Amino acid sequence: MHEAYILQNILEIAENYAKKYNAVKVHEIEVEIGQLSDVSIEALEFAMQCIERNNLFENTTLKIKKIPAKAKCNKCSHEFEIENLLSQCTLCKSFDFTVLQGNELKVLAIVVD
Ligand SMILES: [Zn+2]
Repeated sequence: MHEAYILQNILEIAENYAKKYNAVKVHEIEVEIGQLSDVSIEALEFAMQCIERNNLFENTTLKIKKIPAKAKCNKCSHEFEIENLLSQCTLCKSFDFTVLQGNELKVLAIVVD
């Protein structure tokens, strides 16, 4: 379960941010996770429930924004949503495509006070 490790990194980012602005509480952390990023949202949410609730993260909500995976066909230029890298173009059925989005894993916003 590498989500615990990922969460640790996310919390570190939030902690540094809070320190920088002399904040005492982190209210919300919003992260963006792409469908192809190999991160289980359920596991990440579970990891969040298990963290040690120190003062800084006492009431922190982890908001997860799921980004669907999209690709552009290299044959017919059609843009479509993909399930995984074994998907095929919904128009011409080609397997030759370029991934446009879906690999995201980043912190979008941190709300502190
Ligand atoms: Zn196509």
